[in-house]
Amino acid sequence: MDLNDSPAEAAFRAEARAFLAQHAHEGRLDYYEQDTSTPELVAAAKRWQRALYESGWAALHWPQRYGGRGLGPLELKIWNQELGRAGKGASLFVVGIGMAGPTIIAHGSEAQKARFLPPMLQGDEIWCQLFSEPGAGSDLASLATRAVQDGEQWVVNGQKVWCSGGHYANFGILLARTDPKAPKHKGITYFLLDMRSPGIEVRPLRQMDGNAHFTEVFLSDVRIPDAHRVGPVNHGWSCAMTTLAHERMAIGDIDRMFSFDDLAAHARAHRDRLDPVLRDELARLYTWVRSLELLNARVISKLARGSVPAAESSVMKLAIARILSKSAELGLRLLGPEALLRKGPWQNQWLFAPSMHIAGGTDEIQKNIAAERVLGLPREPLDSRDVPFEDLPRS
Ligand SMILES: Cc1cc2nc3c(=O)[nH]c(=O)nc-3n(C[C@H](O)[C@H](O)[C@H](O)COP(=O)(O)OP(=O)(O)OC[C@H]3O[C@@H](n4cnc5c(N)ncnc54)[C@H](O)[C@@H]3O)c2cc1C
Repeated sequence: MDLNDSPAEAAFRAEARAFLAQHAHEGRLDYYEQDTSTPELVAAAKRWQRALYESGWAALHWPQRYGGRGLGPLELKIWNQELGRAGKGASLFVVGIGMAGPTIIAHGSEAQKARFLPPMLQGDEIWCQLFSEPGAGSDLASLATRAVQDGEQWVVNGQKVWCSGGHYANFGILLARTDPKAPKHKGITYFLLDMRSPGIEVRPLRQMDGNAHFTEVFLSDVRIPDAHRVGPVNHGWSCAMTTLAHERMAIGDIDRMFSFDDLAAHARAHRDRLDPVLRDELARLYTWVRSLELLNARVISKLARGSVPAAESSVMKLAIARILSKSAELGLRLLGPEALLRKGPWQNQWLFAPSMHIAGGTDEIQKNIAAERVLGLPREPLDSRDVPFEDLPRS
C-alpha cells in the first residue's frame, strides 16, 4: 500500500484543510479540557455540526441518499487527520452520526430514516447510547432492562449506566430484554428512545477529571412507540453488532485525540528535563505511534477492498489506549513538579487516558479477541449461550 496521498486524495485533503481553515474556530471543543455538559458547549457543538452539514462535511461515509457523501474509509481518515490538525477533538454527535445513524440506515424503516437522520445530520438532535448496565458491560448480552409490549407501545423498566451525554441527549439507542425465556443473545430488542419521555431519570456521574460526562439512566414505566423499534422483535443483537462495529471504528481514531508532534514540541520546550531515559521512552513511543499508523493503513486498505477488519481493530484499540496513557505520562514528566500545581492539557489527558482502556471494550476483552483470532488460542467457554436468560445465575 502506498502511504502517500494519491492526486485525488491530496485534492480532497486540500479541500478539507481549506474548509477547516475558514470554519474550525466555530464550536471548538477540546478533547480533554472542557466539561462537555455545559449548555454553552452543547450549543457550540450544535452550531459546528450545522456548519458541517451546510458545507457537506457532516457524514462523509453515509450514503448520498441519506445526506452523506458516500465516501470511503480513506477519505474519512484524511478528514479525521485534518480535524485533528485543526484542533477539533471530540464531537457530541459521535453516537448519532457514528453509531445510531449507520444502524438506522442498515436496519431501520424508511419512516425512521426520514424522521431521525436529517436532525442528526443538521445538528438539531444529539444521541446517546443506552447499552451498558450495572450487571452488563463486557458481557452486554446479560442486560436485564425489560421491555413489555402493550398494544402499539412498549413499557420499559430498568437501569442503564455509563451513558455518555445522557443529560443533554435528545434521543438514545436502547437495548432491552423482550424475551427472558430465550437465550441471552436472542431475547433482546433495539429501540430509539425519546429522552424526554415520562419515567426517565438521568443522574450525572462526576469523574476524577471533574467533568460529568457520564450518566446513570433510570427507566420506570417508560413508553416507547412500536414504530421506534429497530429491526424485528428479539433480533436486537444483530442491530447492536452494527452499532458496536461502528463504535470501534469511531473510538479507534487516534488522529483527533493525540499528536506526537505536540508531544515533541512539548519536549523541545522542556529540553532541560530531557535526560537519556526520557529520550529513550519518547523514541519508543514514536515507534508505537508509527506501528499504529501502519496497522491503521492496513485496516483502511482492508475496508477499502470491502472486507471487514476483525482482530486488527482490537489490537489498534489496545495500542491507542497504551499510547494515550504513555504520552500523558511523558507529558507530565516533562513538566516536572509544575504538573502538580495547575491544570492543563497534559494533566487532562492523564486523567482521561484510563477511560480509553475501558470504553468500547476493555483491554482484557480486546486481548481475548486477539488471543483467539490472531494467536488461535482456544475460545472462551460459552456455556450460557443456549440457556434461557431467566435460568442464568445472576448476582
Ligand atoms: C469513556 C467511556 C464512555 C462510555 N460510554 C458509554 C455509553 O455512552 N453508553 C454505554 O452503554 N456504555 C458506555 N460505556 C461503558 C463501557 O461500554 C463499559 O464500561 C465497558 O463495556 C466495560 O463494562 P463494565 O464497566 O461493566 O466492566 P466489566 O465488564 O464489569 O469488567 C470489569 C473488569 O473485568 C474484566 N473482564 C470482564 N469480562 C472479562 C473476560 N471475559 N475476560 C477477561 N477479563 C474480563 C474487564 O476487562 C474489567 O477489567 C463507556 C465507558 C467509558 C469508559
